[in-house]
Amino acid sequence: MASICSIIPHYLLKTIIDKGEADDDIVAECRSTLAQVNQLQTARIEHSHQIALASQGLAQESAGVQGFIPPHIHQAILRGPAGEEEREASRRTLEHDTKFRTARRRERHLSRTVYDAQHRWSFTRDKILIPEGGPLLDKKIDPSTDGNECYIGFGKTYDFYLEYFNRDSLDNQGLPLDGFVHYGQNFGNAFWDGEKMVFGDGSRLFNGLTDELDVIGHELTHGVVQHTCNLKYEFQSGALNESLADVFGIMVKQWGENPDKPQTAAEANWLIGEGIWRQGINGRALRDMENPGTAFDDPIIGKDPQPAHWKDFVVLPNTKEGDWGGVHINSGIPNRAFVLASKKIGGLAWLGAGQIWYKAISSGELNGEAKFKKFADVTIKYSGEHAKDVQKAWEEVGYPFPERG
Ligand SMILES: [Zn+2]
Repeated sequence: MASICSIIPHYLLKTIIDKGEADDDIVAECRSTLAQVNQLQTARIEHSHQIALASQGLAQESAGVQGFIPPHIHQAILRGPAGEEEREASRRTLEHDTKFRTARRRERHLSRTVYDAQHRWSFTRDKILIPEGGPLLDKKIDPSTDGNECYIGFGKTYDFYLEYFNRDSLDNQGLPLDGFVHYGQNFGNAFWDGEKMVFGDGSRLFNGLTDELDVIGHELTHGVVQHTCNLKYEFQSGALNESLADVFGIMVKQWGENPDKPQTAAEANWLIGEGIWRQGINGRALRDMENPGTAFDDPIIGKDPQPAHWKDFVVLPNTKEGDWGGVHINSGIPNRAFVLASKKIGGLAWLGAGQIWYKAISSGELNGEAKFKKFADVTIKYSGEHAKDVQKAWEEVGYPFPERG
């Protein structure tokens, strides 16, 4: 069964409600957030079937053209003490990369519209805050800056996919990106429902989420997954779906926060949803991709349940309460594999492991029910000279994932 991925997962809201350690008004907010997301599921399921049908038979574009040696390394060689021969080779490679990329780059069809939901629980499009091309909003009109952040976040996510993966929006055909800000009241969540991204203003427990590039990147990547390998949102394929959303979401952040000085795999902190918790909660983020299971530990919200290794895989039922077989939980395992692969390859994640992961999802070799083993095999197959690093990364989280006796 398909499901909306709201960035604050059902199981977490349920934990807060069941633990009963939070104030009554916080618990009430969690209940109302949960009820809203549940209501939207039905619409999402219907929409996802339509997309799956429409996508059948569409050829996937190949990954963007990128050398495995990141340009910044060639640039460093040019600046450094290397011999003239080496410098000349780097100069030529850089020139070639630039030419090739410019020649291959798709036309930019970015088309954003940011709407004001005006604190209603519905999506009438009667109040456009920012159409494509702007202008951005004056602080007086939108003091929260949510509208501007949504618009900018969409642009960065779109540009990231276009620039580095030669992908024209989520469907690779210029799908317009619609966003609704100020949704509902005390709605501490954000989600992509297959045709729009929706943000609440935050609640007593959760901060607003428009300023988190990884959250926007995460949610929009569910659209990319849907239009490529369409991994089923349950059990291992669902955990891979969730992991891919984190993988591409975190790369949007590592690149997009400061594109002039992007973060390397070694520099990045690999935290999803930093700043998601209001003050007073003992948590650094929603998830820690490098060290799954360590993002939070607090009486109100419980402890981060993500495993970091296959031996700790969490077996859960395919229900809402069971997080559809642990999709937001077991994603810790492939998340860590991606971080390890990125660090072993070095440089910027989207020029190394990110390219490999993208080739895997657009290869046509994953069906909707792919498990960890199959996904790992396909990434190893497409990792070229980095095959050993990628295989080692998977082995460190339990590859080849033998069934537990
Ligand atoms: Zn998700």
